[in-house]
Parts: sequence; C-alpha cells; structure tokens
Amino acid sequence: MSSHNIPPKDLLTEHKEAFRIIHERGPVCVLTGAGVSVDSGIPTFRGTDGLWRQYPPSLFGHTPGLIFTFACFPKWFQSFLRDTIKTFVQATPNDTHTLLATLEQQGLLSGIITQNVDQLHQDAGSQHVVEVHGNFFRSVCKTCKRQDTLSKDALRAFLNELEGQPLGRIKLFKKLKQDLFTCPSCGGARRPDMVFFGDPLDTSTWQEAICLVKHNKVMLVLGTSATVYPVAELPHIAREAGATLIEINPTPTALTPFVDLYIPDTSSRALRLLVDDERHC
Ligand SMILES: [Zn+2]
Repeated sequence: MSSHNIPPKDLLTEHKEAFRIIHERGPVCVLTGAGVSVDSGIPTFRGTDGLWRQYPPSLFGHTPGLIFTFACFPKWFQSFLRDTIKTFVQATPNDTHTLLATLEQQGLLSGIITQNVDQLHQDAGSQHVVEVHGNFFRSVCKTCKRQDTLSKDALRAFLNELEGQPLGRIKLFKKLKQDLFTCPSCGGARRPDMVFFGDPLDTSTWQEAICLVKHNKVMLVLGTSATVYPVAELPHIAREAGATLIEINPTPTALTPFVDLYIPDTSSRALRLLVDDERHC
C-alpha cells in the first residue's frame, strides 16, 4: 500500500486514540530520529540546507572519507570540524525532548532509542536513552576502552582555536591529538564514540535496544523516515512481538503503511496533547 493512499483522518481523533493506547497499554518505548532535533538547530543528513550541503555525508559521513579530506583538503576539514562542533555545542533541547522527559517522569515512557548523537534527550532530563549511533561528545580509547565525555565548555575552548586562519595539516593534527584524541589513562589513541556510515553498531547497545522494544506493548516512532538499517527493523520487531505501533510525523514515511496509528502532526504538538491530561477529560 502506497503511503499516498492513506486516507485523511481526524487529527483530534488520532490524538485521543494515541492517548488512550498509551494510558491503557503503556509505558511506551520511543524511537527517535534526526527530525526531532531539527528545531534545536541540527540539520538532517537529507535536508536541503544547512551543514550537510557544505559537507556532503558521502565524503564527511564515514571514516575513509574523513581521512581523505583531512589529508587532501585540511582547510575544508577544519571548516567541517568548526561548523560541526559549533552546531552540536550550541544546540539545546526543544519541546519534543522536554515532553518526552516529562512522559518518562509520569511513568508513561520506559526508554528512548535514538539515532541521534546530540545528547539532547539526556540534556532534557531523560534517564533511559539508548544511543544506537553513539554520542558526539563521547570518545573511546582504542587500547584500554576507557570512555570519556567532553564537556561543552572544553569543546568551546577547542572551537576558539579553529576560528580564524587555517591551521594547516600538521598543526591541526597535533591539536586534534593533544586536545581530543589521546587517552588520559594509557596514552593510546581514542576516537569519537559514534557510528559512521558503514560502521557496525555496538553489539551490547543493539541488544539493549531490542530488549527495550520487546518488553513494551507500545512503540512510538518520531522524526525518523525509518529507512536506515538496522534501526529501521526495530518497529517491525516490536510489531512481531505484539506491540502497538504509533507514528508521529508531519508527512508519511516508509513505515506509515505498517503502523497501527499514524498521527500526521509535529512531534511537539502531538506530545503536548499526550502529556496534558486535562485536554482528554
Ligand atoms: Zn586508554
């Protein structure tokens, strides 16, 4: 069934139905994607403007491409580093992040599985967040496996050094090694704890996501086109386990034909109606 064949539905009825399902069958687990962070100033890979227009994911979204760009175009690489760090450091949680944290506090949400690396769910107060694609602020040592989370202040200080004149390949390499990529415990090399295109997902994180999906009777999908595998499999795993699938997205996605309830709305407006009990009395 094509997503274009989905009949228009009464928005208010859909909101009420979602409210009923969540209160009767909840708590829910939630799957979020890049769409929920757009209002925080973080553009999606597929967006037509913003960061990824200047730095195509085909070159900057995977490790070999990043090494190639650093080696051949250090000035472009420095700009990418500066603009990326600035985007993530400046981003703050929006209404969707805050409302999901409220749903968790109300006992209606048991955990969030996110494809985002921006840490905005945690910044908003969410406690149980499974980051299947890693975390922009976290690094991991390749030798001793120590994990560190860089503070936004530390990244702002690093950012100051990237402003202005290009540093050149050698100075930039030394800066990166000294400030970001050397393990304070063993002196080994550390790397951003993120999943780039082509990288496998962390096994234990993936298992945690599947466990969360299978142990909830409702799954809420927000701000994702549900096309990036293997994460796109999660709603189908939930469905096979007997969960009710609810999707909130302003436009239909590849997942829409498979969900039990589709709410054609922004996540912030739909969630506000789920959180606010009085509207349903
Ligand atoms: Zn180490």
